[in-house]
Amino acid sequence: MTIQIQNPIFVPRVLHNDFSYVNYRNYEMLNFAANYFHMSTIQIQSLLNTISSKTKYLAVDPRTPIFQFGGHSNRPTYRILRYAIPPNRTLTSQNFNGQFTTQYTNDVVVEQRQHSNNIIIPPYFYFTDDNDTWFNVNLDCANESSKIKNTGENILMFVLFDCTLLLRPQALTSVSNHLISCNVDGYYLVAADLDPLTINPTFVYGYQSLVSQLAATKRPVIVAQAGKLGLALIASGAAGYAMGFSKLDSIALNTFRQGGGGGGQANRYYFHNLLLPVYKKNSDDIAGTHAVSPTYPCNCGHCGGKLPTQIASKNRTYHYIDFRLAELTALAGLNRQQTQAHLKKLFDNAYNLSLATHQELSRQQPFSGNALPSSEFAHLGVIAQCL
Ligand SMILES: [Zn+2]
Repeated sequence: MTIQIQNPIFVPRVLHNDFSYVNYRNYEMLNFAANYFHMSTIQIQSLLNTISSKTKYLAVDPRTPIFQFGGHSNRPTYRILRYAIPPNRTLTSQNFNGQFTTQYTNDVVVEQRQHSNNIIIPPYFYFTDDNDTWFNVNLDCANESSKIKNTGENILMFVLFDCTLLLRPQALTSVSNHLISCNVDGYYLVAADLDPLTINPTFVYGYQSLVSQLAATKRPVIVAQAGKLGLALIASGAAGYAMGFSKLDSIALNTFRQGGGGGGQANRYYFHNLLLPVYKKNSDDIAGTHAVSPTYPCNCGHCGGKLPTQIASKNRTYHYIDFRLAELTALAGLNRQQTQAHLKKLFDNAYNLSLATHQELSRQQPFSGNALPSSEFAHLGVIAQCL
């Protein structure tokens, strides 16, 4: 049995207060952190009761890098996990000799089996390149997992790499060759410290190469927390992309040092024809430009023609979810060439419209070009150029 993904998917990375968004629709796959199952708030209980009925595949993220960086020390829910390391201690790659690797992998798998019956994520750890001893630990844990896989379970290998690996073609090819040799059923790629808004073409070409090499195995490849680059990489064969319902567009290594899962407010509004989630305080200015009119203010059931700041936070997120899923529905049934052509046009249009919006705002008195500065949309042009 392999992971069955027919058309490209959006994989929400669910936070503990996301009950409404999980409950809102049915999903192909959800990613939910293992430690959340040990929280005891009322919010989390309704989420836990619902989550498995709302998704075909449930990926219970073991969050093992937190034990590599020590972020678990100030997070009690991590201490209850059966593979937890005591506070103020961390794992090192030297810990992973044969017997420890087998036992640790087993503990991580057993913990996940309490919550998911179809996805197994091997222990995974941050690495910089193929010479990093942590890289070998990742490969060993993946292979140990495959030995204890049950019928109906799929091994989804999480690959957490330093984003600068994307800039080094030789190291990248070596890494992907080793990943391909693992006996797993899919890949979930996370480029740590990648800033989706400042990517240059070298990053994009590197990621395209990694995704297309892995996708050639016919195993599904999910690109996580890479902003809109995740959507663009479907043109290279990715089966989908992952991020939060309203945030978590990227991932900083500090998350694993500090133990945080991503706080803050969902204070953005999604302009689907610009492919941009924009901070709420700037969104009314943008919605009022001739460039995006008549599409905004949006008339969908959640927005009801109101200006973005007049829409409740939850409705703004439902609007964002709907449009992201619609972008993927438009790719359903397209072959690789058609997908690439479609996405190139989508990103080209989004860039041109963003530029026109920026120029219109810049001409206004008083100057309001800062509502959509070029630093917020330049990456769309970079991606379009690489497609
Ligand atoms: Zn709307």
